Amino acid sequence: MSFKDNIRKVTPYVAGEQPKVEGKIIKLNTNENPYPPAPGVRKLMDEMRLSDLRLYPNTFAEPLRKELAARYDLKNENIFVGVGSDDVLAMAFLTFFAGEKPVLFPDITYSFYDVWAELFKIPYKRIPLDEEFKININDYKEPNGGIVIANPNAPTGICEPLSFIEEMLKNNPDSLVIVDEAYIDFGGESAVSLLSKYENLLVVQTFSKSRSMAGLRIGFAMGSTEVISAMDAVKNSYNSYTMNYPSQVLGVEAVRDEAYFKETCEKIIATRERSKKELAALGFTFPDSKTNFIFATHKTMRAEDIAAGLRKKNIFVRHFSKPRIDNYLRISIGTDEEMDTVFAVLKEVIHK
Ligand SMILES: *Cc1c(COP(=O)(O)O)cnc(C)c1O
Repeated sequence: MSFKDNIRKVTPYVAGEQPKVEGKIIKLNTNENPYPPAPGVRKLMDEMRLSDLRLYPNTFAEPLRKELAARYDLKNENIFVGVGSDDVLAMAFLTFFAGEKPVLFPDITYSFYDVWAELFKIPYKRIPLDEEFKININDYKEPNGGIVIANPNAPTGICEPLSFIEEMLKNNPDSLVIVDEAYIDFGGESAVSLLSKYENLLVVQTFSKSRSMAGLRIGFAMGSTEVISAMDAVKNSYNSYTMNYPSQVLGVEAVRDEAYFKETCEKIIATRERSKKELAALGFTFPDSKTNFIFATHKTMRAEDIAAGLRKKNIFVRHFSKPRIDNYLRISIGTDEEMDTVFAVLKEVIHK
């Protein structure tokens, strides 16, 4: 018997590559925002004193909870914050899925869900999306220990209307339903408005995409007082000081600048709509995206070969070597200038 026998066996989530190449690159492989965070964030960074880092941060990240509560018309007790929504989602899995029935989520979705389920030994079942990558709501009527839906879904980009989420909640009154809204700010309708009616709902969002702050690691969840206090209890049984001081301070500023937030989201949406036309003209097809990426397949050329061709020109997109989606590329929306370069390079790569 060696200590090696006691090592927990896990198959970790594989994040998109952070390329280490010389020179200029166009990075469209992890859905980061091409625009910088709100200008006020810079100012606060400059004003921060070194001695501010001497003390432990506020355990409840109170200023940030308060700001988010005001923004989403909720109370502080309805907000949970964590180190990116990955941390928030992991805490939610640990908190709510302690039962014996399987937790349900689609076969094609954010690939961290089954990783957390495995890590925490949560029973789960992956339910196939239909041929068009759509969720069939009737598949979620069997007995379950919870439901996790990314809306819009990733990597497909498909967004379901609010009525779909409401029906899911109505069909499953005894299950906690997590709606992962990492991309909701790019044109979808948030389920936040359903919180007053359904106490089995948890809405999770992030600052990483629409608020340009992936590097700071800020995510949050919105739910009933009971649901949020259950999450806080689990979090405080694990690590009381999850969110660092700079993230708490800078996160508040990002939420305050609503005008900048709207402006950058609208710019990305406009670039996305233009990109749909360009990609279609190049022979790509894709589900209609309401996110900051397009999940596209080409009518003649293999996705892997297109990705390799782009890579030679220092353009990085995401390719998943997984069943059903291995002939697709997930292309994040960059600036207009970046996208023009991408289309020009695609024209060369595809005509060969
Ligand atoms: C990006 C992403 C997350 C996690 O983002 P964080 O950077 O950890 O906040 C969660 N869910 C989905 C669907 C995502 O695409």
